[in-house]
Parts: sequence; C-alpha cells; structure tokens
Amino acid sequence: MSLGAATEASEPVRFKCVALPGVGGAFDVDIAGGRVRSITPSLSGDPVRLLLPAFIDLHLHADRAYAQGPRRARSLEDAVEQVEAVKRAATEEDIFERACKLFRRASAHGTTRLRTHVDIDPVVGWRPLAAVARARRQFEEVLDVSIVAFATAHLDPSSAIGRRTITEAVAGQADMIGTVVPFHEDPTVSLNALLDIATELDVGADLHIDERAGSGYLEELADACLTRKMHGRVTASHCCALATTPPADAARTIDKLAEARMTVIALPALNLHLQDRGSITPRRRGITPVREMLDAGVPVRFGSDNVMDVFYPYGDADPLEAAFLASITAHVDDESALLRGICDGRSRVEEGMEADLVVIEASTWNEAIARRPLPRTVLRRGRRVTVERSGQR
Ligand SMILES: [Zn+2]
Repeated sequence: MSLGAATEASEPVRFKCVALPGVGGAFDVDIAGGRVRSITPSLSGDPVRLLLPAFIDLHLHADRAYAQGPRRARSLEDAVEQVEAVKRAATEEDIFERACKLFRRASAHGTTRLRTHVDIDPVVGWRPLAAVARARRQFEEVLDVSIVAFATAHLDPSSAIGRRTITEAVAGQADMIGTVVPFHEDPTVSLNALLDIATELDVGADLHIDERAGSGYLEELADACLTRKMHGRVTASHCCALATTPPADAARTIDKLAEARMTVIALPALNLHLQDRGSITPRRRGITPVREMLDAGVPVRFGSDNVMDVFYPYGDADPLEAAFLASITAHVDDESALLRGICDGRSRVEEGMEADLVVIEASTWNEAIARRPLPRTVLRRGRRVTVERSGQR
C-alpha cells in the first residue's frame, strides 16, 4: 500500500461559506470531476475558512531532510563540510525514510507539487536518487514530485564523468539538472557545461547560484540563457549576492533575468539562518531583492529548502511559513505576490481550474500566514488527500 493516498473517489465536494483569495465575501464552491465546477456567493454569513490553490514548493532537499550534523552549522561553508559525513553514512533506506517523512509533511500542509534536488556524485553514488525516486512512487497519488539531479562539489558538469553521470541520472529518474557553479574549478566553464547538457537532454536547469555574498554568476547565467535561447527553461535559486551588488549592476541583471524569463526562487528561512552568520548580530540578511524582481516581471517563488538538517535545523516544509518569512524579511505586502510565490504563479481559485486546493482554518490570508493553522483539508484533482500522521504540529 502506498504511504500517501487519495482515499476517496472523485465524488462531488462542496465547500460552504469559504473566503477566496483576491475577492471579498463568502462563497460556496462545488468540485466535481476533478475540477472547480461553480463558485457562487454564499448566503451562510461570514467565512471562517479560506480556500486557496494548493501549494507548489519548488525547492527542497528530500535526500538530506532530517539528517542533522554533529553540531549547529557556523556558516554555509561549515554546513557544506559537515554534510559530507552525513552523506557517507546514509543508507538508501535512511534516505527513503527521510524523503517519505518530508513528503508527508509537505502533503499535510497543502502541497500537491514539489521539486527536490537530489545529490549525485561519487560519494553517494545512486543511493539518494534511487531512494527519493522510490519515495516519489509511494506518494504518487497525492504529490507530483520533480527531481533535480544535483551535481555537487564532487561532480563537475564540465568533466567527462560529470557529463556522463548527469546524463545517466536523466535517463533514470531525474527530470531536471542543477549544480552550484562556484564549487567547481572554473565556474564559468561549469555553468556553460550544465546549460549545454540541459539543452542536449531537453530538460530544465535549476542552479543554486550566488548564495554567498560577493559571488557573481547570476548575470553570467542570464547572459548564457539568452545566448542559448533557453527562455523560461532555467531557474536560479538563492541569488543572495544580488542584494549587496551595486544598484545599477543589480538592475541590469534583473532586466536580463526578466528577458530570459528565468524563475528566481528565494529561500528566506535558509538564507536568514546562514547568511552573515558570525560572532556579531548579522547585518546582511541574505534575501535576494525580491520586490525589484517582482517589479521587473521576474517570476519569483518562495521555497522551503532544507528541513531540520545540517544546513537548517528548523522548518516543516510549510509554504505558508516561506510566504510569512518573505513577507516580513523582503516586505512583500501584496497577497497575490505571496500566493504566486508558493503556488507557482497561481493566486486565484476560479471555475474550471483543476481542483488542487487547500482549505485553511482561517478567515483571511493575513490570519492564514500569521497562524499557519493545522490540520488542513487538501484536494488533489478533486480527491481528498490523506497522509499518515498528518495533522497537528
Ligand atoms: Zn537548496
């Protein structure tokens, strides 16, 4: 039996007297045949629940979640160092169990689609990819999982073994490819090699880029995407350094991101935790210039990233938490921008749409992100989702 299941048949469902994003008032919403069939004003009074599009969390690490190191990471570099021992010690079964736990939490929070990076390198071999792919099959009734083959510091995409391993990963279980370019000897060569492989294999690329202050490969990535005409095929995750780039340079880079239709994923929790960590209170907060990107028309998403692991000791794969943190750290006040950030561009519930939905026990968006209440009712393609041990925190 699968661990996650959509247990009820696709029978009609009616949500009475719910609030909807972007419109005032209360509504009755009918679901049938996997779609939102009708939305009508409710005569039952004020809404006490909020119906939202289901969440889409575009940045997680299912293979590392819940695997903590011997001590609290002192910096990004320290976390990268500590994760080595964790990776070497992990069996395929360990990774499978952790990935399942993460998928359960994500699903219980109202996520119906997620993207996870999965390490591929000679240290871990194929264990993480096999384990996460198995967990994906276990949860296929409730969750669409897309896997990014993540070429770590031990696997340079510009090397022969790098190219071969990434190609094998895509032939196997991976849907996209990624890396951290400054980890490699010649970052520019590695960046271009990764994009070449993505083009050759006809898959998208999602790069961890410019997470460290002072790093500066984002503009190069945008230029490379434009040259290759990879419009809309590339995602840039983190992009913290852009926050401390001179404004004119940052503006030029942002214009190129918009032109290349690159998606940028901001990861507020992880960046707040690790950026500028040292002996004094941090001054640089590490969040990419989200509002400037939104103003320029760059699709900005908010992801969970690491969950209770070496890199980040907290987190619960709750997109509402990512939206809350984006709101208070980047001062994104606009409800629909926050919703688009955790729903991959959707911000409304409309007639005819596929019924991937989540019901929050809150009467407004503000209350939803303030309290982030559980449990939540989750529908995927019109069927109620249940997962083991979902429910209260
Ligand atoms: Zn990450």
